[in-house]
Amino acid sequence: MDLSRYITTKDSSPMLTEKRLNIVFASSEIAPFSKTGGLGDVAASLPKAMAQRGHNVVVITPLYGHLDPQKMRLSRRLEPLEVPRKSKNQSKLEAILWESQLDHGVRVVFVQADEYFDREGLYGDAENSFEDNAQRFAFFSRAVVEFTRVFSLDVDILHCNDWHTALAPIYARHYFEDEFADTSLMLTIHNLAYQGKFNSDDFDSTGLPKKYASDSELFDADGDLNFLKGGLLYADHITTVSPGYAEEIQTPEGGAGLHEVLQSRAEDISGILNGADYSIWSPEVDRHISVQYEVETLNGKRRNKAEVQHSLGLPVRPTLPLFGVISRLTEQKGIDLLIPTVQSLLSDLKDERDGFQLVILGEGPTHFREQLTALQKEFPKRVVFQHGYSEQMAHRIQAAADVLIVPSRFEPCGLTQIYAMRYGTVPVVHATGGLKDTVIDVRENPDTGTGFVFDEHTQDSLAGALERAAATYRNYRKWRPLMVRAMEKDFSWNESARHYESLFRASRESTAAE
Ligand code: ADP
Repeated sequence: MDLSRYITTKDSSPMLTEKRLNIVFASSEIAPFSKTGGLGDVAASLPKAMAQRGHNVVVITPLYGHLDPQKMRLSRRLEPLEVPRKSKNQSKLEAILWESQLDHGVRVVFVQADEYFDREGLYGDAENSFEDNAQRFAFFSRAVVEFTRVFSLDVDILHCNDWHTALAPIYARHYFEDEFADTSLMLTIHNLAYQGKFNSDDFDSTGLPKKYASDSELFDADGDLNFLKGGLLYADHITTVSPGYAEEIQTPEGGAGLHEVLQSRAEDISGILNGADYSIWSPEVDRHISVQYEVETLNGKRRNKAEVQHSLGLPVRPTLPLFGVISRLTEQKGIDLLIPTVQSLLSDLKDERDGFQLVILGEGPTHFREQLTALQKEFPKRVVFQHGYSEQMAHRIQAAADVLIVPSRFEPCGLTQIYAMRYGTVPVVHATGGLKDTVIDVRENPDTGTGFVFDEHTQDSLAGALERAAATYRNYRKWRPLMVRAMEKDFSWNESARHYESLFRASRESTAAE
């Protein structure tokens, strides 16, 4: 396939002085079509940034049940994609491929395989994962490899993401060593907590020969089948989404059981910070919010706050800081720390003019939903819990809140605090991973600070940061410069895409030299 005919970027692109790279980006989600978290955002914005640099980029992703090819006006490829399910050739499944072309020439190819993807949910429901996820994503990884070889003449980079596509490097090297000799196989870890761990009996669903079971490349210390581990051993290069997290995952505390595997690949690991797509996440252009605003028109932010307070049934009080949380409801995200901390802070309040209001948008399991609903019941004038997933509400909270709380135990990069800063919504974050890499504490750095960072993952430490934020908010002479500094921070993809490009080129050169 000649990818260049789909691309609008001209050869004379000022960015490009070397060969244009052909990149296949494989992801189990891509916003706005499918998204459960940051991976969906990155799968949309990194390919776009690479295309803006002049490269040819195709994103390959599943066609989930909620996606209707007709309504989305996708075009159907005449040739189906034949995907072997077991070993090299047996039991092929014919997948239908649908295509769409996004801004800047990025193409998205959706893989339709109804028995795996035509159902509600991407990976499961709020409580449980689908039982056949091993088959589903072994199939998808294999589809990625078949797509790359059958439809592409000279793919330079096959960029896999997380465990869902982590088997692709193994399939490529095992079955098609020659065909992939000039292709660099990249694997990005967006969150090491999710490894694609399955019962050992699921090994058959990979279709791989027994050797991969016997020399334990695909099994971890607990005896579980582990897709990510296999990918980490077979990828040419591994990246993760912040420099801080790249170090943490190589330690016993941060390695989620894979630190030794990661240490063995230390020379091939890079941490590249995720960026923000400011054409979507910026208050000047955001179409989801009531009033657009920028640094010069901060009154617009106050109007968004009043509108959100009013519509959620909170007292409209400009003087009370409005705290926001936009998060998956999990232990990783520190929801179990947040709830008792807020409960205790609000219980201690004597005067209704003190303290703060809090709006939480999140999706998660029953126990967190119940605890958050109870918190709202206890403090109806203070706390609103919006259960569910709403892109629009996420934007409205970013624009309306004064403070965004991200109390994650660990955080590979974190996007919500990056988006928050552009909205003048000052982040309160735990000092970990990408949160530490992106937020500068204002107490330690009064002239450059952009938020509030707490060190210990304890109630006292979080409460201290929240109180500091609330106290600073009440002093507008201090608050305004803090907001403005946060808004002026540049986390666009430019710099990060440049890093990916250098890495891709270096990796291609070493692949070609082997
Ligand atoms: P993670 O990928 O670990 O969930 P990130 O901070 O990297 O965390 O990315 C989270 C993304 O998901 C952001 O775009 C955020 O706005 C979005 N998000 C999280 N929860 C919700 C929700 N309930 N409704 C809408 N968007 C959400």
